[in-house]
Amino acid sequence: MRKIRQLTTELTFRCNAKCPACHRLRIKKINLNDSKYTYTLESFKKLFYPELLNNLEWLILNGNFGDSIMNKEFREIISYVKEYGTRLNIHTNGGIHDHDYWTDVGNILTNRDILNFDLDGLEDTHHIYRINTKFEDVLSNAKSVIATKRPQVHWKYIVFSYNQHQVETAKQLAKDLDFHSFSTVKTNREFNPPRTGKFAHTKNKVNKDTLEKQILCAWESWGKWYVSPEGLVFRCCWTGGHYYDNDNSKFYYPPEFTKKFNGFYVPIEKIISYNYWNKLKLYLQGYDRSFSLCKSQCGKLLSSREKVEENLNTGEKTIFDAYDQRGN
Ligand code: SF4
Ligand code: SF4
Repeated sequence: MRKIRQLTTELTFRCNAKCPACHRLRIKKINLNDSKYTYTLESFKKLFYPELLNNLEWLILNGNFGDSIMNKEFREIISYVKEYGTRLNIHTNGGIHDHDYWTDVGNILTNRDILNFDLDGLEDTHHIYRINTKFEDVLSNAKSVIATKRPQVHWKYIVFSYNQHQVETAKQLAKDLDFHSFSTVKTNREFNPPRTGKFAHTKNKVNKDTLEKQILCAWESWGKWYVSPEGLVFRCCWTGGHYYDNDNSKFYYPPEFTKKFNGFYVPIEKIISYNYWNKLKLYLQGYDRSFSLCKSQCGKLLSSREKVEENLNTGEKTIFDAYDQRGN
């Protein structure tokens, strides 16, 4: 059994899409397109050195700000990870590159890896949120990967008010095309969330004043960390994303954070063994004194994320919520 359950990173802060509620559109203290926020194969190897990968069960490539397929060395980097048998779970809008590229990606991955394509609707609705991507292109790229018969290919569908009537049609299409699974994500984004019905997010339905004051540090309980492309190690993607906001006062980052928590200066295994994480866990037990970011993301046991995934072969359903943070 490998010692580290899960690390999440993104291979670049660049993105080809312009989703209206994406964190990348908030005012930042950095330029997301700066090369400092894109791994090279060499820098990736330094941060994710062989001993670390040998101890790591899952590496998740998921974006706070970027899509890893925008990294020109994406295929080289995932090939390197696979040399050590670390399982990959990749999230992508899938909107760029061609059949040959995605066939290559499929052939690099194995049946122990997962590739998630973001497809939020059908031909007439997908692009409303995933601006700059085309439904037909993403579907065609997913089909190229499915044809390799290697990784599990997932269809991830964020349900908005304007595409909720298409969920069943999309799920049937996913089955017909041999996707491994299909998931629906309830959104509390300020962008056309369903206000009523079975896809309305709990946060939009519940009176939070009535709930017990408690924080479940979701990433701590799942045993994972977020690493930014400049090497900084954070408890979670939310504290990692917020760090780059112009006003990052909703969480406290310790003194000398940029050195002591940077995997280019201190090996990641050492950073994640710091007593700091235990202290943070204890601190979060005091709801009222706690950080506003933690209260809003993980407070009162309401997860920001409500996702149900169905295995299209077996019909088995998995609920991802505050207690199950796999795949973020
Ligand atoms: S694809 Fe992801 S990273 Fe890119 S704009 Fe959309 S939400 Fe943001
Ligand atoms: S937002 Fe706070 S409570 Fe939630 S996972 Fe991150 S550090 Fe933990």
